[in-house]
Formats: sequence, C-alpha cells, structure tokens
Amino acid sequence: MKKDTRLIHQGRGGSEEEGSVNLPVHRASTILSADLAGYLGRFDGDRRFHKITYGANGTHNARALADAVASVEEGHGSVITASGLSAVTMALSSLLNQGDHMLVTDSVYGPTRRFCNDVLTHYGIETTYYEPAIGAGIESLFRDNTRALFLEAPGSLTFEMQDIPALAAAARKHGIVSLMDNTWATPLYFQPLAHGVDVSIQAGTKYIAGHSDLVIGVITCASETLHRQVADHVMAWGDVAGPDDCYLALRGLRTMSVRLQRQYESALQIAQWLSQRDEVKRVLFPPLADDPGHALWQRDFAGGASLFGLALQTTDLDAVARMVDGLALFQIGSSWGGFESLLAVNRMPLAREVLSWTETPFLLRLHIGLEDPADLMADLQAGLQRL
Ligand SMILES: *Cc1c(COP(=O)(O)O)cnc(C)c1O
Repeated sequence: MKKDTRLIHQGRGGSEEEGSVNLPVHRASTILSADLAGYLGRFDGDRRFHKITYGANGTHNARALADAVASVEEGHGSVITASGLSAVTMALSSLLNQGDHMLVTDSVYGPTRRFCNDVLTHYGIETTYYEPAIGAGIESLFRDNTRALFLEAPGSLTFEMQDIPALAAAARKHGIVSLMDNTWATPLYFQPLAHGVDVSIQAGTKYIAGHSDLVIGVITCASETLHRQVADHVMAWGDVAGPDDCYLALRGLRTMSVRLQRQYESALQIAQWLSQRDEVKRVLFPPLADDPGHALWQRDFAGGASLFGLALQTTDLDAVARMVDGLALFQIGSSWGGFESLLAVNRMPLAREVLSWTETPFLLRLHIGLEDPADLMADLQAGLQRL
C-alpha cells in the first residue's frame, strides 16, 4: 500500500467506532470491567500494547494515531507523547543511562539542547555537539561510552542538511542507537527508518495536526525491543496525550499529504522569488538548487516542507519591524505546520558550539500556509519595500 493510502486507511479503530468513519473520542480515566475476571484479565499478557486499562496508559484514540503514524513511518510501532518536545526528551531518556555519552547535531532544535545541557547532565549523561555536515567523520567522535547519536535535518532555524545514511550506518556499526527529529519532512517526504535510523521523532504539533490547535508528539521505533523500551519508559514517567488531541491529530493526518504538497509548491515558488530579490542575502531552503544542502536533500528526500529561513541584507532591526509589522497575511508567531502563513524573527547568534551563524544579526523564518501564493508574494513584496 502506498503512503497516501495508508494515511487514509490506517488507525481507523475496530469495533469501538460503531459505524462512524472516525473513531469517536474515548475520554477516560477509569475503564470499567463487567466482572472481576474481566478486571483481572485486562492486566494479563502484554497489557501495554493490547488492552486499554486506564486513561494514563493510553486510550483508543492514542492507539489509533500511533498505528497510523507507525504505518506511514514503516516502523515496528509508535508511542504518542504529550508534546513534540516530550517525544524528544522521552526517547532520549529511555535510551540513556548514567555515565553514557551522546552526540547531538549542533543544528538541533533549541529546547532539545536545553534538555541535554540542563537535565541530562543531572543524570550523569554527557552530550557532545557535532557539526551537522560531519557525515561518516562522526566515527572520530565516538567514545567507549557513546550510546546515542541524535540527528535533525534540516536543522532548526539554519536548515543545514545531514548525510543521514552515513551517520546512521556509522552508529549501527558501533552498536550506537540513532534517533532523528524528522518534524520538517514528515514521514511523507523522508523516512528515517528506511535510511538506517533506529528512532524517528515527530512534533505532531506541526504538519500532522496541521491546524495550530494542539501539541502532541510521536516516537516511532524500528524494532520491537526499542518500541517496548520507549513505551515502558513513557508510561513509567506518566507522559500522556489527551484523547481529544489524539483525535484531532489523527484527523489532521488524513489530509497531511495534500496540505504538504500544496504548501511545498507554494513555499518553493516563494523561496525562488525571494532569492532573486535585492533585499535578500540568502534563502535557507534545501530544495533550492543553490542551497548548500541541496544535493543531500535531492538524494534522500521525496519533497520539501513549507518552512524556510530568510537572511536579509539589512542589519537594522527597526527596518525589519517596519516590514513585519505591516504584513497583512503573514502573522507573527512561533511554531509552524498549520494551514496559515507565519513569520518569526530570531536574533543570532544562537547558543551553538561548533557552528555559529555570523552572516546576519538575525534570521527570519517563514512558514507558508495554504493561502494563494500570489497573495503571499504581494504581501511580502510590500513588506520588502517598507525595509
Ligand atoms: C516544534 C518542534 C519540536 C517540539 O514540538 P512541540 O510540540 O512544540 O513541543 C521539536 N522539534 C522540532 C524540530 C520542532 O520544530
């Protein structure tokens, strides 16, 4: 079955749906049993994966969402968490122990770095940040106690690509578990597990949910062993997504392919147009032919998202404020992946260790939504003129 078909037909639930196309929202803390044998029976066998026992241990809606994402990721199984960030923190903490060392790309999402530096250090877990372009050279950073390799491509805010198959192969050769934050491409445009990565992470908040109205995370594992380890850990920590959010995320997933396709087409058109403008220094978007990550993107990815960086010629933040504050369609805000266009401005440099951004004092980030791209370009054109 092709991915687009799986998006529609997986995770549709079983007898619970009583005829409705969508599995109804299963709001529950307590799950009642008809008799004592039924109650005790719920805990027989592998209750983590087969029986609903209690709201905090997962509802039908969480299971359905997990099944659908696992199918598109082509993984052994998925685990749903309360946010994209908790998908990262739960995956990492489930796989690392005191005394372990981990390698994380320097282009990683900021809150992931904060978790490594401010939380994992308290548990005696050390992180080294590596240059995203290191490729097979990663082996020179492996230590005897290196247990995990964390990837994210393109990188947060600066959009560096990584040689994912080379990194994953090096990790596997040394028995190191590899994890990738794949939120930008979604499993439709890149499948980490098919490229040798062990654990794929999605901030479902973004393109999966797709409507800017919830936060949720998904961890998908390549093997049964990893899936159990992560699922047990998430349950032990009590990290749980509510059934309403699981329902909405699954509803978003059904239309993700058409949304992404349209948003990517618009983003490419707008990025190409912007890259020709005099006010623009550089557009950071691997699908553009002159992007430094283009060759890797073209080799490994099946499409692009609708999120890219924009470095302007001006170093005057007041001029940027004139541009941004007057925009009619682009709204100012963090996050992305919804149906609406957004713009955010980030002060540089970022807290990085091996790769600092020196080209401009700030970077814009644009998320292209489902509006007509001609309207979006007109909005941006007027904004560039206000610079
Ligand atoms: C947004 C984001 C996250 C975190 O997701 P939340 O649901 O907002 O916690 C993780 N990784 C990346 C790359 C993101 O963009």
